[in-house]
Amino acid sequence: MFRVGGPADCFVRVTEKNQLIQALCLLKEAGQNFFILGNGSNLLVSDAGYRGVVLCTAGGMNRISVEDTVIYAEAGASNAAIAAAAKAHALTGFEFAAGIPGTIGGGMVMNAGAYGSEMVNVTEKVEALRADGTVCRFSCEEMKFGYRSSIIRGSHMVVLSVQLHLQHGDSREIGAKMEELAAKRMEKQPLEYPSAGSTFKRPEGYFAGKLIMDAGLKGFTVGGAQVSEKHCGFIINRGGATAADLHHVIDQVQESVFTQFGVKLEPEVIMLGEFDGTEKLQESRNGS
Ligand SMILES: Cc1cc2nc3c(=O)[nH]c(=O)nc-3n(C[C@H](O)[C@H](O)[C@H](O)COP(=O)(O)OP(=O)(O)OC[C@H]3O[C@@H](n4cnc5c(N)ncnc54)[C@H](O)[C@@H]3O)c2cc1C
Repeated sequence: MFRVGGPADCFVRVTEKNQLIQALCLLKEAGQNFFILGNGSNLLVSDAGYRGVVLCTAGGMNRISVEDTVIYAEAGASNAAIAAAAKAHALTGFEFAAGIPGTIGGGMVMNAGAYGSEMVNVTEKVEALRADGTVCRFSCEEMKFGYRSSIIRGSHMVVLSVQLHLQHGDSREIGAKMEELAAKRMEKQPLEYPSAGSTFKRPEGYFAGKLIMDAGLKGFTVGGAQVSEKHCGFIINRGGATAADLHHVIDQVQESVFTQFGVKLEPEVIMLGEFDGTEKLQESRNGS
């Protein structure tokens, strides 16, 4: 997370699935804006904050259980905790996600992925709440996973829990793989600064970081926001950045890359709140 942005009108950390369902029904009845927050690792929240209620699943709704090769996790369970459970039960397949700093709910929305795998490869079933208040279950196929997308993204549905299917493996090998991937992240990514990971989606046929570097934007800075010198695909908060600084850098990068190479970079980062006088609400849920 960027560690910037203003407050929400109301922030609720949910601890139980039924609590989340009840809260959503009440908010819907009241016609209130609401936003489902996981760990916030892929968000850029505006300096003015969010006019509505934030329901946060991380740190509360996070139970995990394991049965044979199946891991059941509530939406707020962190990828790291699920990876630890997989390792403890000698289950392989989730190593790729151990270092993705989000919740499994957020991972389902984004089809989070790294190092050659993504959530689509480990998902068996997803329990979700529809906008009409009914609970449904999606198979992996029904989730319509795509590149950083799923049926949940941009919909009015909320992930409640997830069933993952892994394979039997060797605990030590699983641990070693996780350590190897963590070392790769440390070496290549500017993890010492707040960021949202890769700022842009990978454009077909290109790498966003390379395009940004070739556009001469390595180290490009506005206020406290900067195109990372270590990895140009990351925009970082060097210290004291505002959301407006970060937004400005994102805009500038998009404009320069388009002007120089004709490639449109689409943010992977989700913006919430008002930027440049425009409300970014496409990813929030409106109960009305
Ligand atoms: C250092 C760093 C490295 C990263 N590396 C990777 C990487 O390798 N691969 C990768 O894919 N991503 C990466 N990311 C991005 C981010 O971690 C992932 O997108 C992650 O899956 C987001 O999870 P989250 O819980 O933080 O979601 P949030 O950022 O809280 O939310 C993301 C979106 O999901 C929605 N959402 C969250 N939970 C639910 C729910 N239960 N129901 C419905 N909607 C929900 C939110 O409303 C929002 O639209 C990285 C980020 C950082 C900071």
